[in-house]
Amino acid sequence: MPRIVHTLWTGLRLRCPDCGEGRLYTGLRRHTRCAACGVLFERSEEGDFLVTVVVSYSIAAVFVAAFVFLLNWLVPGLDIYLQVALSVALGLGFVVATYRNVKGLSVALLHLTFGLRPPRTGTREERDV
Ligand SMILES: [Zn+2]
Repeated sequence: MPRIVHTLWTGLRLRCPDCGEGRLYTGLRRHTRCAACGVLFERSEEGDFLVTVVVSYSIAAVFVAAFVFLLNWLVPGLDIYLQVALSVALGLGFVVATYRNVKGLSVALLHLTFGLRPPRTGTREERDV
């Protein structure tokens, strides 16, 4: 399996995208770093949240579009307001149900694009030496 696909799949399975061993979540609690290799799962930049939102929205949009297509095919002539209500409910439910996996996928994407590094420790003078 190509490295990119393997890394994305590892994140989707809620495992560390770097080593594949550590868990991203315990229940609903997200870990800040990998218990196995120590890599950080969250960078201290605000754009990380935006990556998760964009990935989640993109997947939900494809899912809802497929649902609307299937609904129109199975139940022709269904009231448009009912279609919209069902689609919105399904889309919101999909986003909530898959949030952890999408977060894992976005962590994997961040790992592939920017890398997930442990924080620098010590004072600025100690780091610059
Ligand atoms: Zn790890």
